[in-house]
Amino acid sequence: MSDRHDRHDRHIVVVGGGIAGLAAAHALQQRDHPARVTLIEAADRLGGKLLSTPFVGIDAVDEGPDAFLARLPWATQLAKEVGLELQLTSPASGSASVWWHGLQPIPDGLLLGMPTDVLKLARTRLLSWPAKARAALEPLIPRSDLSGDSIGAFVRSRFGHQVHERLVDPLIGSIYAADTDHFSLTAVPQIADLAMNNRSILLAGRHRQPTPDGPVFYAPQRGMGSFVEATANGLRDRGADLRTGVTVQSLVADGSGWRVDGVYADAVVLACPAAHAAALIADERLGAVPYADVAMVTIAVPLGSWPQGLTGRSGYLVPKPVQRLVTAVSFGSQKWVHWQTPESVILRISLGRDGLPVLHLHDDDLLAAALDEVGGHLGLTLQPTATRISRWNRAFPQYRPNHHLVVKQIESSLPAGIALAGASYHGIGIPACIRSGTAAADALTQWLADATD
Ligand SMILES: Cc1cc2nc3c(=O)[nH]c(=O)nc-3n(C[C@H](O)[C@H](O)[C@H](O)COP(=O)(O)OP(=O)(O)OC[C@H]3O[C@@H](n4cnc5c(N)ncnc54)[C@H](O)[C@@H]3O)c2cc1C
Repeated sequence: MSDRHDRHDRHIVVVGGGIAGLAAAHALQQRDHPARVTLIEAADRLGGKLLSTPFVGIDAVDEGPDAFLARLPWATQLAKEVGLELQLTSPASGSASVWWHGLQPIPDGLLLGMPTDVLKLARTRLLSWPAKARAALEPLIPRSDLSGDSIGAFVRSRFGHQVHERLVDPLIGSIYAADTDHFSLTAVPQIADLAMNNRSILLAGRHRQPTPDGPVFYAPQRGMGSFVEATANGLRDRGADLRTGVTVQSLVADGSGWRVDGVYADAVVLACPAAHAAALIADERLGAVPYADVAMVTIAVPLGSWPQGLTGRSGYLVPKPVQRLVTAVSFGSQKWVHWQTPESVILRISLGRDGLPVLHLHDDDLLAAALDEVGGHLGLTLQPTATRISRWNRAFPQYRPNHHLVVKQIESSLPAGIALAGASYHGIGIPACIRSGTAAADALTQWLADATD
C-alpha cells in the first residue's frame, strides 16, 4: 500500500470481513467518489458468521445463519446488487412448534411471540386457561413502564408470565441466543414501536396493517457462503484489496488520517465485534458489550427412521424451564428444498445462549447432549449417519437494557475518521449488519468530502 492520497485516491481500510465489513466495502465502492478499499480479515476466510460447507453430499449446508429477513430491504438489496437475485429462495412452508411436554404448534396471530389477537390463543395447549384469561385482560392493564427497557418485564406486564415464558422468550431468545429478561426492548423495533406508541398491544393489534404478502425469509440456494463469495468477487473486480489471515493489531492517529498496523488510511471502518474494536480504539465501553456463545450440531438421520408425523414441520423451540442445553431445533431439510436428499433428514440443533455456556464442552459431549435431548423431545432414538459440530465463540452480542443509549454515547465520542459497523451496535440480524456497514461507509465518505471542501 502506498502512503497519503489526494481526494481522488482516498484509501479506506475496513477491519473485519464479516457481512458488515463486506457491505461497508461494497458501499464505499458504489458511492460518487469511490475510495480505494483494503479489507483486512483475521480469519483465513471471509464471511465471519456466514459459513456454508458440504454435508452429506450437499455442497453448502450453513454452519451459521441459514436465512435473512426478506421484509427488511438491506440484505435483499445487496443480494441483488451482487447478482444473487435469481438464486434467492424461501423456506418450504412448515409450521414451527414449541416443545412443552410435547410439540405444541405455535399459534397464529403472534408478533415475535406476543399476541396481537387473543382469540387465536384459545386453542393452544401451550398456555393454561388462567394464563389465556390473563392475556385477554391486556387491554385493561395501565400503560407499562418502559424505563427498564427489558423485553421480559414488558411482556409479563402486558400478558402475564406464561406468554413470556412459553412464547416470547423462546422465540426472541432463539433468534438472539438471549435471555429476554436481560435483553433490550428497544433492540426489537417490531415490539418496541408498538410498546412506545400504544397503551394496549391487543387494541393496537386490531388496527395493524395486514402482513404483506411475499416471503418472510430469503436464502441463497448455494448457502450464505455464496452471498459472501459474490460480494467479495464484486469487490475484487473493482480493485479492492481483500486480505485474510491478518489480525489488525494497532490503530494510531496520523495527521488527519490513521495508521492501521503502520499503513496509512484516510479513514477506517471497524467492522469487527465490539470486543475487538475496544482493543483498537481503547474504549472500555465497547469492551463491556457481552456476548453469548452457541454451538450448532448438524446431524443427518436416515429418512426411513423419521416419523411421518414430523414431515412438513420446520422445527421447534425449547422454553427455558424445560431447557438443558438445546434451545432450538431446525428440521433443515424440511425447511430448505435444496438441502433435501433421498436418504436423510438434516437437523440443525442449537445449544447454548446467554447464561447457558456450552463451548467448554468437548465435541463428544455436545453431540451426546444434542442426541439425548432431541431424541427425548421427539420420542426417538436418533442414530445419525453424519454429524458436524460448529462452535461459535461470541456468536451473538447481547443488547442489555438501554444498549442503544450506550452505543449513541460511544458513537458520539468516536475519533474523526473512524466508524463502527456490525452486529454489536444497531441490530444483530444480517439485514441490520448490512445497513450498519453501508451507514458507516456513507458517514466516512461524507466526512472525507466535507474535510476537503
Ligand atoms: C449460529 C448463528 C446463526 C445465526 N442465524 C442468523 C439468521 O438465520 N439470520 C440472520 O439474519 N442472522 C443470523 N445470525 C446473526 C448474524 O449471522 C450475525 O449477527 C452477523 O453475521 C454478524 O456479522 P458481522 O459482520 O457484524 O460480524 P462477524 O460475522 O463476526 O464478522 C466480524 C469479523 O471481524 C473479524 N475480526 C475481528 N477482529 C479483527 C481484527 N483485529 N482484525 C481483522 N479482522 C478482525 C472476525 O474474524 C470476523 O470475521 C446468526 C449467527 C449465528 C452465530
